[in-house]
Amino acid sequence: MTTRIPVPLTQFVVKMHSRCDLACDHCYVYEHADSSWRSRPKVIADGILVKAAERVGEHAVAHRLSAVRVVLHGGEPLLAGPDRLRRAAEAFRAALPPECALDLRIHTNGVLLGRAYCALFAELGVKVGISLDGDRVANDRHRRFADGRSSHPQVLRAVRLLNEPEYRHLFAGLLCTIDIENDPVAVYRALAELRPPAVDFLLPHATWEEPPKRVPGGGEAPYADWLLAVHRLWEADGRPFAVRTFESVHRTLRGLSSLTESMGLEPSDLAVLETDGTFEQADSLKTAYDGAPATGMNVFAHSLDDLARHPGIAARQSGLAGLSAACRACPVVRSCGGGLYAHRYRADTGFDNPSVYCGDLMTLINGIAGDGGSSAAPAAVPTAVPAAVPAQGAEPLLPAALAPAQLDELARGYGSADTVAALGRSQLALTRAMLAAAWDASGQGRAQAWALLSELDGAVPTAVDTVLAHPYARTWAARRLAGDLAAGLGPLAALAAAAAVRAGRGDAVAVPVRGGWLHLPTLGRVAVPDGEAVVTGRADGFEVRAADGSVRTALDQPLRRVRLAGGWTVALEDLDPLRDSHDHPVAERLSETELLGWTGALREAWELLGRDLPAYAEGIRAGLGTVTPLRSGPVGRDVSSAARQAYGVVGIARPATAPTLALLLAHEFQHVKLGAVLDLFDLHDRADDRLYFAPWRPDPRPLEGLLQGTYAHLAVTEYWGTRTAAYDGLAGEAAARARAQFALWRRYTAEAVERLAESGALTGLGVRFAEGMRGSVEPWLAVPLPEAAEREAERVRRERDEHGRLRSVEA
Ligand code: SF4
Repeated sequence: MTTRIPVPLTQFVVKMHSRCDLACDHCYVYEHADSSWRSRPKVIADGILVKAAERVGEHAVAHRLSAVRVVLHGGEPLLAGPDRLRRAAEAFRAALPPECALDLRIHTNGVLLGRAYCALFAELGVKVGISLDGDRVANDRHRRFADGRSSHPQVLRAVRLLNEPEYRHLFAGLLCTIDIENDPVAVYRALAELRPPAVDFLLPHATWEEPPKRVPGGGEAPYADWLLAVHRLWEADGRPFAVRTFESVHRTLRGLSSLTESMGLEPSDLAVLETDGTFEQADSLKTAYDGAPATGMNVFAHSLDDLARHPGIAARQSGLAGLSAACRACPVVRSCGGGLYAHRYRADTGFDNPSVYCGDLMTLINGIAGDGGSSAAPAAVPTAVPAAVPAQGAEPLLPAALAPAQLDELARGYGSADTVAALGRSQLALTRAMLAAAWDASGQGRAQAWALLSELDGAVPTAVDTVLAHPYARTWAARRLAGDLAAGLGPLAALAAAAAVRAGRGDAVAVPVRGGWLHLPTLGRVAVPDGEAVVTGRADGFEVRAADGSVRTALDQPLRRVRLAGGWTVALEDLDPLRDSHDHPVAERLSETELLGWTGALREAWELLGRDLPAYAEGIRAGLGTVTPLRSGPVGRDVSSAARQAYGVVGIARPATAPTLALLLAHEFQHVKLGAVLDLFDLHDRADDRLYFAPWRPDPRPLEGLLQGTYAHLAVTEYWGTRTAAYDGLAGEAAARARAQFALWRRYTAEAVERLAESGALTGLGVRFAEGMRGSVEPWLAVPLPEAAEREAERVRRERDEHGRLRSVEA
């Protein structure tokens, strides 16, 4: 019997050519312990490429991968020649199922990269990463031809070529290996001048047997000092390009995933194919000992599932448990992760050691945290990570949960059913991780509720998934992690009880009852006296044994769902005590009359969304599970709110008309989507504490507020654009209103996008996201509108400006 693999492989390094035209003296392939390159064919054979592509394709189908990355590597891959590179690209593209995106890259020293190769890569969609160690002095220190000549001029020529408008989109970034004898300022300036989209600063490979170079007077942590000098410049310049090492520290300090295999606790998902068809582990292991990366497997005899079960790969997928005792006890382990696996090697203890760069890593992480690297307290971090998977390459990387095309689709405001489902999966993983962290922090060990939830998670995962997809499951964890101990542990017991009821296996769990109600998330509530009730899930229902011995077997107040056209349902959440997580007070349990009102309004609003916002409706259907009724606001003011720590729910006070409800649903669901995106990616500098004016508000807000508002108004603008098109050629009040609203919101949204773009506080991915938003706004600006609509928009705008100024003055 085969065992299920814990983590599918999603990154494949394919050795196209095993030799190199440079003779860099720090190269791990030729200059370190492993000498396997000597016996390998120089060029990979076509038959191996085709079989490898087939293996990747079957792995993608078996694990329903949404994206894989293939990096054509070497030696120097350009030595394989254009024809073989074309055949490799075509083989991988042809082998993948249509729903799996291929992120195809080549990593080269740049020496042979000319116009013909760039044209080929543009045609094949291959992104290009280049190794460059900095300015000429720095680069010449190691990266020379065998006869001692400098390679610097050739590499600069290659980078300039990639910066030409025609090829700029191919430029993935630069890889710079650190040498502490190089001046960090000169290196940074030289690299920044080349306008790379990303730079990876790599620690030179070393082990406890072959420790890294030290220089006299270099201090105790010279590599950290070097990197911190670069970090300060990078911050001062407004983070002009992505740097995975820095971004990973910023992210992990906030409890998010690392972006690089060399730091953090994320499982490795990388495999290497050599030119002879053998599978190897990460290339960096070549630095440890001769044969260290070997697996004994090859592409003809073994599948990628076989490879993923290899003990060496499994060891790099076991998180904290796979680290040395010293690392497990280390205060920065969640950011550091024990460093790169290869750097832990020592002849007598293998890889069961901290990194040989331990002191540097600790100083670097503490230094970045002290530089304001994190905007959140580092203390509370999950014990597991969300679906973000570390990746290799030079571009700011996308977790495997979301393909680049999906992020671009979201940036334009939309989100297909598949894309929103991918966001939902990443949110579910995040909820799991946060619950684990909150439970860990409670110090309760394997108490009954947690033990049951964990067991059901393995035995009846659909029951647990359904319960954890309840939007307020994460709300509880977030409150606990923020130090709100008043949130108690009862909600976790209630989640376990709801999972037990859904599993129906006869499991029992004690749940504390307060206020006369036992709440079972996703199901409803039962009236029982305060105290401890025991909930038992049975195949035919459930039993609640209350503190006074009474037994209940039915819900007094079930969670009610509204069935909408197309057969999907949305829950009207008016029971969960944790639903009070929105910016406005929530409504009490709806009366039957109110329920009828909501049912009719939601059905009508859903039909309008299908008609007026079809490109948004699909995503709403895939991701909106719950509407929480809010209390009405002042007369004439619509009230709605998403909650940052609750995915898949929008809070709304039922407005007077169905079109307004449709608009509020679309607006708030934009916040839900963007919140999930922000959980996966840093789109902006979280340390930026400046305030920004949104064109539609009198009060300035943090950058995330401006980003959220802009994103929500993409949907609003499209709604009015569709209504305007529907009224084409018609007169009347409704038509005039639609045109004026469209004129107003397209202008506001366009201004807001530019304000974001000019903030200087967007990351590389944030800039790309803003470009996506701009891509939706620009065509709207070109739609001709009657003069009267523009005048009316201008009048409203002036009035708002006036109110804004007045309010600011009063404040
Ligand atoms: S800083 Fe050192 S002890 Fe701490 S996790 Fe990293 S390598 Fe291990």
